Amino acid sequence: MLTELVCITCGRRVAPGDHQTCVACGSEGILDARYDYDGARAALTRDALGLRPRTIWRYEELLPVPPGAARPPLHTGWTPIVEAPRLAAALGIRRAWLKDEGRNPTASLKDRASAIGVAKALEFGYRAIACASTGNAASSLAAMAASMGLPAFIFVPERAPEPKIAQLLVFGATVFRVGGTYEQAFDLCRDACARFHWYNRNSGTNPFLVEGKKTAGLEIAEQCTADPSFDGAMPDWVAVSVGDGCTIGGIAKGLHEFKRIGLAGAVPRMLGVQAAGAGPIVEAFNARAGLVPCAPSTLADSIAVGSPRNWRRALAWVRATKGAMVAVPDADILDSLRDAARLGGVFGEPAGVACLAGLRAAVAAGTISRGATALAVITGNGLKDVRSAMDAAGQPHDIRPDIEAVAAVVGG
Ligand SMILES: *Cc1c(COP(=O)(O)O)cnc(C)c1O
Repeated sequence: MLTELVCITCGRRVAPGDHQTCVACGSEGILDARYDYDGARAALTRDALGLRPRTIWRYEELLPVPPGAARPPLHTGWTPIVEAPRLAAALGIRRAWLKDEGRNPTASLKDRASAIGVAKALEFGYRAIACASTGNAASSLAAMAASMGLPAFIFVPERAPEPKIAQLLVFGATVFRVGGTYEQAFDLCRDACARFHWYNRNSGTNPFLVEGKKTAGLEIAEQCTADPSFDGAMPDWVAVSVGDGCTIGGIAKGLHEFKRIGLAGAVPRMLGVQAAGAGPIVEAFNARAGLVPCAPSTLADSIAVGSPRNWRRALAWVRATKGAMVAVPDADILDSLRDAARLGGVFGEPAGVACLAGLRAAVAAGTISRGATALAVITGNGLKDVRSAMDAAGQPHDIRPDIEAVAAVVGG
């Protein structure tokens, strides 16, 4: 059960309610949800979990939605983890796994957050919900809202790939394509929510949405410790692509909460990966300094964030786990898009596979040792950005309908 919200900047505590950020610290005052962990420990035993639905709602005691409250019915979470030995060999580590978040209802990890966002909007009595997004948060919100009959208003930057816009429109959201950056779309959404009384689903600042992303961490912990092929332990490293910083912070929190309720031992180190053209959190990590916003430039649209809202929490978790952060160039992201598919059998979008490029870089730099094991969270499906996939994949062979033309390609 949710007990309070605590500002990660000044430590001020508030009772759970319709809050976005800390009243004292403003937009820098990200609020962190806290729970009755003794109650959660008593309720969430292995036996009890065995009887729970295989969705994010199995962790009800650690989610900010009251029992019995309205929830989107779309099956969200409990995505598969697949081992990828050929990928491990290519990365130069002992074992590697991919968690395929593309298997969520709208094909990205954002469904976990949007399910919570829609439940909170209904709980607080809003008649509509809004968000600004580079694509996946918006597609997932459009679907979750549609599943509950809640109108959705969505602000997208011009850069968003067409398949993601198609998802919004097909689910019936009102879509504003903002002639400007993600940051401008974000500010416009916030102002529109204040003026029209819509619930703001911007996960950069909303304290509840990140709790949805947390379920990916709870799942990794549960799936790994329950599966004999993991020898009862979690991987040494969990690699996550980073834009605003909510996903990595949420996943790390979930891993730790699973330990806190007594169901896991050692918790993995977090590897945060940004695109080189949008890497302000990596720079702050390396410089041990504050965040300097940048003008983002990367083909990985879902992590093209120049002014990340949740950088403090991301850095706090990376440091707390003795983790690391790396930035990777777009060319390496496209290489990893191929590797994830050809060596691991999972088709990710550029932001979904950037974490793999980061793993490779961290092994090359000696940050991750060759004896290590690692799990990469493939946060979004590759069909969300077909153009980048085609850039990574090469071209078909154009031939005449003639067996000799086939022989000319394959030899023999
Ligand atoms: C949103 C997103 C991320 C990054 O999440 P943040 O919370 O912004 O750090 C990574 N990959 C995909 C596919 C995403 O949609």
